[in-house]
Amino acid sequence: MNILTVGSVAYDEVITPFDRRERALGGSATFFSIAARHFAPVSLVAVVGNDFNLADEQLLEHKGVDLAGLEKVDGKCFFWKGEYLANWNDRITHDTQLNVFEHFKPKVPHTLRDSEVVFLGNIHPSLQLDVLNQVDKPKVVALDTMNLWIKETRADLIETLKHVDFLLINDSEAAMLSGQRQLIEAAKTIAEMGPKTLCIKQGEHGALLIRGEEIFMAPAYPKCTVVDPTGAGDSFAGGFIGYLAAQNDLSFDTLKKAVIYGSVMGSFTVESFSVDRLASITRDDIEARYREFVTYTHFEA
Ligand code: AMP
Repeated sequence: MNILTVGSVAYDEVITPFDRRERALGGSATFFSIAARHFAPVSLVAVVGNDFNLADEQLLEHKGVDLAGLEKVDGKCFFWKGEYLANWNDRITHDTQLNVFEHFKPKVPHTLRDSEVVFLGNIHPSLQLDVLNQVDKPKVVALDTMNLWIKETRADLIETLKHVDFLLINDSEAAMLSGQRQLIEAAKTIAEMGPKTLCIKQGEHGALLIRGEEIFMAPAYPKCTVVDPTGAGDSFAGGFIGYLAAQNDLSFDTLKKAVIYGSVMGSFTVESFSVDRLASITRDDIEARYREFVTYTHFEA
């Protein structure tokens, strides 16, 4: 099934405990699309400014991402500046400049209005809803968001969530959205808002999947050397949704495998700045790491 996604395409300035990078290609939709494209066709709806490098556009094209919905307008690309603290888990956002996203009115190309899988990547929730409203009857709607939108645009987010099946967020965002620290309780509260399946990304601690009474826990890949965690969450979502789109099956067993593919994709992204590592891997690399996960998590009851 084709995946339609909206989200940011950005230039990031990233500071880590050991290094820094300016004008790194980033954005939620960039990481998501490249990760998901390993599994299923992906069409991207977003906006970039006239500072968007041709090489970056070509990279997305070369990776097979459909850019029919990528608008180019006068102005500057979305900009984000973040810094990771020594524990790698805490990150400070120093700057967020919406730039061309400020007046963006997403237009879903007519040929994509019958998309069956929609991933609403991290961006203003009213833009997410705008995209969803232009799609006929998607089978799967998934959404990612962040503390900024939960805090600043809560009413818009609550409205958008009514139409969402899968919510992928981290544990502090789940607590912030639901008002519950205990994650199972958080999942119950969030299910009442709309999303019946909650996937909680826990960085180096892995991921937790909750759908009603069904629960699955996956560890993070233990062998990678972290260079820059930016985009790990979006790449996780790319692996998760990409795998689901390719399977056309929403049984809990399939969802469990999707969580592992999500963890695999996140683990590649953190091994470099920007999309450098993510864009260089093959499906064989993905499968090899997936098999490692199977080995490392298997035990006899
Ligand atoms: P992640 O590390 O998966 O949370 O995603 C990091 C990416 O999200 C970066 O490449 C940023 O450009 C992008 N980003 C950061 N803040 C926002 C925001 N408020 N809205 C949309 N995208 C954002």
